[in-house]
Amino acid sequence: MYPAAHRNSRPTCKESVMAYKIKASDCTACGACEAECPNNAISFKKGAYAINADLCTECKGQFSSPQCASVCPADCCVPA
Ligand code: SF4
Ligand code: SF4
Repeated sequence: MYPAAHRNSRPTCKESVMAYKIKASDCTACGACEAECPNNAISFKKGAYAINADLCTECKGQFSSPQCASVCPADCCVPA
């Protein structure tokens, strides 16, 4: 039998990671975000910048805040 403190604690599970997205309607295609992404999740395709949700980690474990959102002058890097 576990001590009470352990018995009452929730099982640990991997923290879920969401992704950021670029609001295309507000993006000015300045390119500032692309160079800042530590995971190369941002690319310019078909005339617009977009975030690959499979690569985006929200910068968790790498920076204290999402780097794309930090540098975006149009505030269009937002949680998906
Ligand atoms: S939140 Fe971080 S990992 Fe995701 S696209 Fe922006 S810079 Fe890249
Ligand atoms: S920094 Fe913002 S405005 Fe510039 S390309 Fe990225 S999403 Fe678009």
